[in-house]
Amino acid sequence: MALSFFANTFAGNALDRRSDLRVLPDRLAELRAAPACRVLAFWNGQPLVDGRGEGLRLPALPADLGWRAANPDEALFLGLDGEAPVWAIELTGEADPSAGPLEGRGRFMDLRLAGGQLSPEDAGVAATAKALFEWRRKHRFCSACGQPSEPADAGWKRICPSCKTEHFPRTDPVTIMLPTFRDQCLLGRQAVWPKGRFSTLAGFLEPGESIEAGCAREVKEEAGLEVVSVRYHSSQPWPFPTNLMIGLIAEVSGQDARPDQTELEEVRWFRKDQLLALLRGDAGWSDIEGMGVPPPFAIAHQLMKAWAES
Ligand SMILES: [Zn+2]
Repeated sequence: MALSFFANTFAGNALDRRSDLRVLPDRLAELRAAPACRVLAFWNGQPLVDGRGEGLRLPALPADLGWRAANPDEALFLGLDGEAPVWAIELTGEADPSAGPLEGRGRFMDLRLAGGQLSPEDAGVAATAKALFEWRRKHRFCSACGQPSEPADAGWKRICPSCKTEHFPRTDPVTIMLPTFRDQCLLGRQAVWPKGRFSTLAGFLEPGESIEAGCAREVKEEAGLEVVSVRYHSSQPWPFPTNLMIGLIAEVSGQDARPDQTELEEVRWFRKDQLLALLRGDAGWSDIEGMGVPPPFAIAHQLMKAWAES
């Protein structure tokens, strides 16, 4: 029976990752040469996409084209789609490859823009590859001795040839929470956001901190409220660059909220009917010009929706 859970955008990677194959060089060579092999392309952190509007997809390059465009030894083995091996390559350089060697295959697009238009499966695969490429780009040197490290395990590890330290891809946990008090919830806004944008609160977990404690600290620091209970909703891989958003509903002890003026410039309480209208894109009732909340592909939207519909 399949694992059942609420899957946010970027959480839909359905490939069989087959981590056992990553350590078998002969099998990897076979998987690169397989007729059914598919190669997904990235350029400077952006996936190659094809299609228009709601119907974007990740076009698979035939293996021979993929291996001409990038060094196969630096390719990332993402897993199997049925019998088909799926790989990702990252192209670099100033010149857009979709106007060069990959002409006619699609266009490169920021994953923040493409994410909500890809299928859940493609968005998840793109998020996996992007997070790994981001990690690789920023971890070229051994953090123990400073020597250049080398790729291993089909892109899932790096090894220092000097001190033999193994380095693994990192995921940075972020708690993202909707504070609630009885039938109202609190949203905040950061000064750097688009005009009128309100959203949930969020912050990185710190070492030695549980998810619950991190959530309570963020709500206290940013809004001056005491969290009395924390309920998990869902999580979202967020490959900008390598985060995991942990979505929570946080009940607080009162409504005397004060924005910290560092992260948040304003906080406001909303009733469920007001929040539902905002989620539909209807801000006509509000006194704030251009008021809005994040789009459905953001876990913040899903947290608000789940609470408002409960
Ligand atoms: Zn080292």
